[in-house]
Amino acid sequence: MWEDGRAICDAGERPRGDRRTGGDARIGHASRGAGRRQAARGIAAPQRGVPGWQLRLDGNEMKEVVLGHFGPEERELQRRMFAFMQDDLFKPRYGLDVWSYRELTLQRLQKVCAQGFIHAADVTAHPKRFMAGMQCLHFADYTLSIKAGVHFTLAGGTIAKLGTKYHHETFLPKIDSLELPSCYGMTELGHGSNVMAIETVATYDPSSQTFDLFTPNNLASKFWIGGSAQHGKLCAVFAQLRMGDQWQGPHVFLVRIRDDDGNLMPNVRIKDCGSKMGLQGVDNGQIWFDHVKVPRENMLNRLANVSPQGEYTSPLKSVAQRFGATVGGLTMGRFLIAAAAVDASKIGLIVAVRYSCMRTQFKDKKIMEYVTHQRRLVPALATTYGLEFAMQELSRMMRKSQTSKEVHFLSSGLKAYATWHRVKTLQDCREACGGMGFLSENQIGPIMTDMNVDVTFEGDNTVLMQQVVKGMLASTPEGAAGAGNVTGPTVQAIDQLEPSLLALLRWREAVLFKEFLALGGREAKAFDENLDLVLSIGRAHTERRIFEIFQVAAIDVANKPEIKDALLALCHLFGVWCVEQDLSTFVSRGGVSRQAALGVRDVVNAMCASVCAEDNHGLLALCTGFGIPEQFITAPIAHNWTKINAKM
Ligand SMILES: Cc1cc2nc3c(=O)[nH]c(=O)nc-3n(C[C@H](O)[C@H](O)[C@H](O)COP(=O)(O)OP(=O)(O)OC[C@H]3O[C@@H](n4cnc5c(N)ncnc54)[C@H](O)[C@@H]3O)c2cc1C
Repeated sequence: MWEDGRAICDAGERPRGDRRTGGDARIGHASRGAGRRQAARGIAAPQRGVPGWQLRLDGNEMKEVVLGHFGPEERELQRRMFAFMQDDLFKPRYGLDVWSYRELTLQRLQKVCAQGFIHAADVTAHPKRFMAGMQCLHFADYTLSIKAGVHFTLAGGTIAKLGTKYHHETFLPKIDSLELPSCYGMTELGHGSNVMAIETVATYDPSSQTFDLFTPNNLASKFWIGGSAQHGKLCAVFAQLRMGDQWQGPHVFLVRIRDDDGNLMPNVRIKDCGSKMGLQGVDNGQIWFDHVKVPRENMLNRLANVSPQGEYTSPLKSVAQRFGATVGGLTMGRFLIAAAAVDASKIGLIVAVRYSCMRTQFKDKKIMEYVTHQRRLVPALATTYGLEFAMQELSRMMRKSQTSKEVHFLSSGLKAYATWHRVKTLQDCREACGGMGFLSENQIGPIMTDMNVDVTFEGDNTVLMQQVVKGMLASTPEGAAGAGNVTGPTVQAIDQLEPSLLALLRWREAVLFKEFLALGGREAKAFDENLDLVLSIGRAHTERRIFEIFQVAAIDVANKPEIKDALLALCHLFGVWCVEQDLSTFVSRGGVSRQAALGVRDVVNAMCASVCAEDNHGLLALCTGFGIPEQFITAPIAHNWTKINAKM
C-alpha cells in the first residue's frame, strides 16, 4: 500500500510499474568510493567482488515459504488463536504497575486456557502443534508467553516427559485447564547454571511412603521460580534423592505449594522476588521446604522408580546418565526461547525498516538510504532469515527426538546465538528509529526490556556455547591431532569470497578447534583456561550450521525462482557478514588475504545497497515475508507516518 508516494505497509502489494532502477548505480558508487579512499591511503584498491543482484520478490510469496513448515493443522490453530487474540484483553498495555500487570497476565492466561488451545501433553505427543500455539502467545506479549511457558512447557512438559500414566492422567488435564497453575523449581539461590549441585534434599521414608523434602540452608532455597510468588499451586521440584545412605542424584517431585483456595501448604514458605527489570507480569518467587511430606507417587518415575518398600531402580545406571536424561527435557523450553528471540528480531526489524523507509532527515533523504542504517538493519535481517530456517530444521529434528545429542548441541548453540542476535538487533532497531524507538507504543523498547533475560534463562548463553564445544569434543576421536595445518580455501582476491563462503566458515571452525585441541582442551583445566576460545569455536560452529541450513533451504525453493534467488542472496550476505565480523580470525590464520580483506566492507555495503535498491522494494517485501501477522505490528511508526504526524 502506498500513500503520498511513501511505502506505508506492504511492499508485496506495490505495483510493479512503480519500481525505479538504481540499485546497480549505488553498488558502483559504493565500490568506487572505497577504491578512492584506499588509494589515498596508499593501499591498492580491492578487487571488486560486489554482487550484481537485485531482489524481485513478492513479500506474500516469501511469507508462504517461511510459514510453509507448519502443516494445515498448525496453520488452522494459529488462525483461530489470532482471531481470538483480537480481543481487547490482548491489546498491548504499557506502564502498568507490577500488580496490575500480574493480574492482566493471569487473566490472559486464564482466557487462553479456557479455549483449550494448548495442551501440555503436546510437548512430547505433538511438538509442532505445541510450538505453533506457543508462538501465538509470544507474538501477543512475551510476559504472557513466559507465564504460560513455565506452566505448560516447563512444568507440564516435564510431567509429560519424565512422568508416567498416573502423572499424565492426574496432573496434565488440570494443567491444561489451569486448575493447577504450575511452576518449575530447578534453580536455587546458590545454584543456577550448575544444576547438578542443587542442595534441596528428598529423603524417602518407607514407613509413611513419602519423601521428606527439605531446604537445608538459604542457598538451597528455590529462587526465581516463575508463577510461585502469587498464583502457583503445583511445583515440579528438582531435589537430590537420598535412599538411606545412598545418593541417587537430582530427581523431580510434584509438590503442592498452595491448596485449591490459594493458601500456602504447611511447611512451605514463599517470598516474592519483587520488581524486576522486565517481565513484570510474571510472579517469580523464592521457596523454602521445611520437611514437606510428598507422596511416593509424586516422584516422576519414567527414568527411575522407588518401590513402596524403598527399593530404587533405574535402567540408567549412573547418576550422570540420569541427570543428563532428566535435564534433557529442557529442549522444548530452550527451543521456544530461541524461536521467540527470532520473532522479536523480526518485529523490531519490521518496525525499524518501515519507519526508516518513510522518515526523512536532511532534506528529502530517507534515513534508510544512509549506509549506516543499511549496515545496522540489512545484515540483521539476513541473519534473522538464516535463524528462521535453522529453527525450522531444529524443529524437524525435535520431532524425531528431543533428547538426542544432536538436538541438545544444536539447540544450545541456536538458543545462545539467536538471543544474542536479538539483543544486538533490537538495540540497533531502537537506535535506527531515533527518539521514536524509545516510545513504548512503538514496541521495540518494551520487548527489549522484557526479553533481556533470554540470554540467561533456559541455560545461560556463555554456558550453553560451552555445550556446543563439548559436543564437538565428544564426536572427535581421542588423540585426534591438535596441531598442524587445516587445509581449506585461501581467499586471495575479493571476487573469490562469495564462492568460498561455506568452505571458509568450515575452515575457521576447524582451525580454531585444532588450536584448542593443541592447547589440551580435552582436559578440564585447559578447557576453563581457554573459555574465550571455546566461545569463539561455539559461535563459529553455530554460524556454519546456520549457513549450511540456510543455503539448503534456499535451494529447496526450486519452484519459486525469485524467492530462491532472494534467499540465496540473503544467505550470502549472512556469510559475508560473518566473515567481516570475525575478519581478524580469517586474516590472522591465513584464510583471507590482507588484500581481499580490504574489500570485504565494500561487499557488505554493496549487498546491503542491493537489498535496499528500487526504493527499498525488496527490503520491505522481506519484512512482509517474515510472516508476522499485522495485528501484532502495533507500533504506529510502522504504519502511516504522515497520518501520525497529522494527529500530533
Ligand atoms: C526472570 C527469570 C525467571 C526465571 N524463571 C525460572 C523458573 O521458573 N524456574 C527455574 O528453575 N529457574 C528460573 N530462572 C533461573 C535461571 O534459569 C537462572 O538464572 C540461570 O540458570 C542462570 O543461573 P544464575 O542466575 O544463578 O547465574 P549463574 O549461574 O550464577 O551465572 C552468573 C554469571 O556467571 C557466568 N558463569 C556461570 N558459570 C560459568 C561457567 N562455567 N563458565 C563461564 N561463565 C560462567 C554466567 O555466564 C553468568 O554471566 C529464572 C531466572 C530469571 C532471571
